[in-house]
Amino acid sequence: MRTPTVLISGASIAGPAVAYWLNVQGWQTTVVERFDELREDGQNIDVRGAGREVTRRMGIEDAIRAATTGETGTEFVDAAGRPLARFAAGTSDSAGATAELEILRGQLSRIIVDRTRDDTEYVFGDRIVALDEKPDEKGDRVTVRFASGTTRTFDLVIVAEGLRSRTRSMVFRDANAVRELDFYVAYLTIPRANEDTDLWRWHSAGRGRSITLRPDNLGTLRATLSFLSDVRGLEQLDRDSLVTVLRRTFADVGWAAPRVLTALDDAPLYFDAVGQTRMRSWSSGRVALVGDAAYCSSPISGMSTSLALTGAYVLAGELATHPFGTAFARYEKLMRPYVVQAQKLPPGTPRIANPRSRAGLALMNSALKIAGSPAAARLGGLASRWFTPPADAIDLPDYPPCRPSHQI
Ligand SMILES: Cc1cc2nc3c(=O)[nH]c(=O)nc-3n(C[C@H](O)[C@H](O)[C@H](O)COP(=O)(O)OP(=O)(O)OC[C@H]3O[C@@H](n4cnc5c(N)ncnc54)[C@H](O)[C@@H]3O)c2cc1C
Repeated sequence: MRTPTVLISGASIAGPAVAYWLNVQGWQTTVVERFDELREDGQNIDVRGAGREVTRRMGIEDAIRAATTGETGTEFVDAAGRPLARFAAGTSDSAGATAELEILRGQLSRIIVDRTRDDTEYVFGDRIVALDEKPDEKGDRVTVRFASGTTRTFDLVIVAEGLRSRTRSMVFRDANAVRELDFYVAYLTIPRANEDTDLWRWHSAGRGRSITLRPDNLGTLRATLSFLSDVRGLEQLDRDSLVTVLRRTFADVGWAAPRVLTALDDAPLYFDAVGQTRMRSWSSGRVALVGDAAYCSSPISGMSTSLALTGAYVLAGELATHPFGTAFARYEKLMRPYVVQAQKLPPGTPRIANPRSRAGLALMNSALKIAGSPAAARLGGLASRWFTPPADAIDLPDYPPCRPSHQI
């Protein structure tokens, strides 16, 4: 029997993870990534609960632990940098704003890609421009045309292109696939200074704006500038226009803002509009979605990476044990309740953590002081419960390695 083939589009977390598990199950995997090389940008992401169990089963948990960012907790500060409240890092799989396993996105991506390089064909600097499910001379397969001009056929296509996937819109009709949260985040890498700590320090500046600083394991510092805005499409601006918007928006903000705005001249910068993917279905014919392309829960939830790792594992496991139509349906049945839980953001977010009015800011700061007080800690960690995502809300099936024996 011939080896089944799959094209996976997107080489971040979900794409290489699904390639890993399909390799284990005897598939021939190709990953296409539109960037010319593996993307190193991005900041701390959390590996929690079921996602962490998947990394254990992949044999990469120790590599992740060795590359954690060393963040020791979260501290909210005022405009002068004075602490308002502090919360320790999570000490379990799922608790706290800072997870026990926090790693830079680019490093996790590299760890998974390195585990798959021997078995997976990686194609960088290309992307799908057309898909056709008409049978070719080898049977019922998907014909894919790439931007480079090549055409190839595969048994299945898995789209792992993130929140704003273009291939998804070629196949699925959901006009409102992305639920916008009217919130933008600029991620920058800046030089570390003597006064910096190993805490995730966070200043809410009013008018819907926040600035944060986080340690990394590379001797630099990760900064974010985030703001609420009803204006859509800012993520499509070129870098110069974006820098102008950020400088204007944060011009009167205190604490670390002047330093971060100065660094904007030459700091690596990644900017995105925060949203969630809400799809009616995660498959159509021979095409399936995985990770943020299917069910991004947003950085606010801290769950997108764990969903991507878990979804990749379940999708590949189901494909190993069932024909693709049944496998896609079972993947969705198993994952959907987990996703629904993860996409439930704490009430009022992102607005509540980024107040617009002075009164809202004062109220938030008072609430933080109470939540971070020793009395609240004795009551069982109010803040930890507020921040704790439903990372364990799925029973992971076991999928013993086997060569697919069913009809693709
Ligand atoms: C550069 C970058 C930085 C990020 N930084 C953060 C962060 O700091 N904090 C955070 O919480 N989350 C961040 N994320 C999102 C985070 O990685 C995901 O929420 C989560 O890990 C699930 O990953 P994913 O693989 O499903 O999607 P993503 O991580 O979004 O990856 C999608 C991949 O698909 C590629 N791609 C997109 N379109 C195409 C196409 N048409 N053809 C081929 N390839 C395509 C992208 O270049 C990317 O490599 C970042 C994502 C990226 C891409």
